[in-house]
Amino acid sequence: MNDVVRVTREGPIGLIALNNPPVTAASQALRAGLLEGVRDLDADPAIQVIAIYAEGRTFIAGADITEFGKPPRDPSLPDVCNAIEASATPVVAVLHGTTLGGGLEVAMSAHARVALPGTRVGLPEINLGIFPGAGGTQRAPRLAGWETALDMILSGNPISAERAADAGLVDRMMEGDPGAVARAAAQSVIDGDLPTRRTRDITVDPAPELLQARLDKVRSKSPHLIAPQKAIEALAGATGDFDEGLRRERALFQECLQSDQSRALIHAFFAERAVQKIPEADATPRPIEHVAVIGGGTMGSGIGTAILMAGIPLTLLEMTDEAAGRARRTITGNLDGAVKRGKMTADKRDATLDRLTITTEMQDLAQADLVIEAVFEDMDVKRQVFGKLDGIAKPGAILASNTSYLDIDQIAAMTSRPQDVIGLHFFSPAHIMKLLEVVVGERTAPEVVATGFALARRLKKIAVRANVCPGFIGNRILSHYAKSVNYMVEDGASPQQVDDALTKFGLAMGPFMVSDLAGLDIGWANRKANAATRPAEERYTTFADRICERGMFGRKTGKGYYLYDGDTPRPNPEATEIIEAERQAAGVTRREYTDDEIVDRYMTAMILEAARVVEDGTALRPIDVDAVLLNGYGFPRFRGGPLHYADQLGAAEIVSRADRYAQEDPYYWQIPQILRDMAANGTTFADLNRKG
Ligand code: NAD
Repeated sequence: MNDVVRVTREGPIGLIALNNPPVTAASQALRAGLLEGVRDLDADPAIQVIAIYAEGRTFIAGADITEFGKPPRDPSLPDVCNAIEASATPVVAVLHGTTLGGGLEVAMSAHARVALPGTRVGLPEINLGIFPGAGGTQRAPRLAGWETALDMILSGNPISAERAADAGLVDRMMEGDPGAVARAAAQSVIDGDLPTRRTRDITVDPAPELLQARLDKVRSKSPHLIAPQKAIEALAGATGDFDEGLRRERALFQECLQSDQSRALIHAFFAERAVQKIPEADATPRPIEHVAVIGGGTMGSGIGTAILMAGIPLTLLEMTDEAAGRARRTITGNLDGAVKRGKMTADKRDATLDRLTITTEMQDLAQADLVIEAVFEDMDVKRQVFGKLDGIAKPGAILASNTSYLDIDQIAAMTSRPQDVIGLHFFSPAHIMKLLEVVVGERTAPEVVATGFALARRLKKIAVRANVCPGFIGNRILSHYAKSVNYMVEDGASPQQVDDALTKFGLAMGPFMVSDLAGLDIGWANRKANAATRPAEERYTTFADRICERGMFGRKTGKGYYLYDGDTPRPNPEATEIIEAERQAAGVTRREYTDDEIVDRYMTAMILEAARVVEDGTALRPIDVDAVLLNGYGFPRFRGGPLHYADQLGAAEIVSRADRYAQEDPYYWQIPQILRDMAANGTTFADLNRKG
């Protein structure tokens, strides 16, 4: 038929073998070959049954991602699915591996489905801001019932074939290789052992209350997202005429596909792949069989948990027996949490804890292949630790720092082996957050960088490469835009208004509530530490310091920007008074902000610093910045990241805003040349991503 689809005849059995490694993507060639194969075999009077199966590691695992964003090419997947269903000769689909998205839609169009043990089936389209648009919303409830269809389509999570069989989505489990199972299943159809029917002929009872309940749930849980609501609307059509349901599904699907949200979610999906393209990609990672962590506080315990959960033995160094005991309790608690969340069994937790050694002797780190330092954020302390470690760690061991802001090159200079020193910047809670910034020093060896990326893969994290500068990619951008909200509050907005405006924009939590949660004392300590080096031109707001001076550190003290004395936090009148007093003391005339202006200023500040990070090479590409903010800073995924969002606005708009704001504060609102050039040339960050 073509390279990816092979049709053969064995007596009355017509076999269609799909071969499109690595994941049997439903590319144009696969769709065309499959359509032609089904039609040819159906037209052949000698053929009594058609079996579709895949060679390689999986049945169709979804769309061909290289076709995303390009004009559609015939035949469309809905046409292929409808042709399979319309075949007068019964068609059986044989599922193995990960049968996802369009793959499951093809299978649901067949007249019977068998699956190999271990198969997982799912409809993950919702993660890309769309939903199954090749009949999936019409066929899934007919085959699997409402609950399973809704769960699969709205969560995007795959289920086991066994569960799918219980629900009716899979007719039979059969063992063997896919080709042999295809022949056996086809024979069963001929023998009348495996019944076949058209999915479209199944009727499904209306369930208006259930659908309404799900709609209410998605509206309250993800109020910004369009696709879940449209998916439910499409699903509702499954109780009526099939062809009408398909037409409605297609129209709603197209609406989602054309939406900014879907483009942003697809960008976010590609960002996680793009960041793996690094100059050191060809270097061979060093083997990591034993990791050590220095410091068992918030970060050390979290990093240790992540290492242990990946099955890697860990030695953790603390200063005192008491601190060591605390670290053990934290790690045990983290693992207990994983058991509660169903991520690990109790037996596995016990085995995992057996791989943990806690010590107060640095000498015990001598055998580690990688040592990650997570002690206090203080250059003198770090220097001491690395100087001592240099005399103990074995040759070739990688010496990493989890510092948030400090200079990796200065830390490396304390050792006789700067080529082995790197920044591995985890995010809190480190056993949960996906991001790992891999900070490359001036002398870090390529294979050390490659090892950082290999470690991230083992920890199931997303590594992003950053060069050395204060705060690297994420914290550097954060330090800049965090000031914008304080400026707006001193100028007249309330913390609650800022938080509300930004949560409406899509942030999971507003910045003032986040500060309350993290502890206001942390920022206070940083400000005090940096007071001496703060540029004289920089505007400084004082209300946060005054709030801390009164012992209000946020949630942990019950008071911060909010009061935490009831079920829901409410504005703290004491904080409001302090803000008002400081505003007057600074001689600021109060002004009003609209919610839109709050978002515009916040996003403009973020984009300006993000552009500087790209301009000076701290990040390899704009898409790396997006990956950092999406995976470490709670930036709303459906907006694609700050620089994807910047492209939606256009550089000219950002420059014009910043020029306007700069009239109030020229120091803060400086515009990087890269943005001015982009505005002049009409180019985008996406253009820079394409250049790589
Ligand atoms: P923490 O105060 O909770 O923990 C530091 C721990 O290090 C303490 O338990 C202390 O006993 C131990 N320690 C100090 N000196 C030591 C030494 N010489 N030997 C062994 N143990 C020693 O601090 P943290 O929040 O975990 O931060 C640690 C590092 O991680 C800092 O560099 C910080 O900037 C960075 N970081 C923090 C976060 C965060 O959200 N907290 C996020 C990313 C990175």
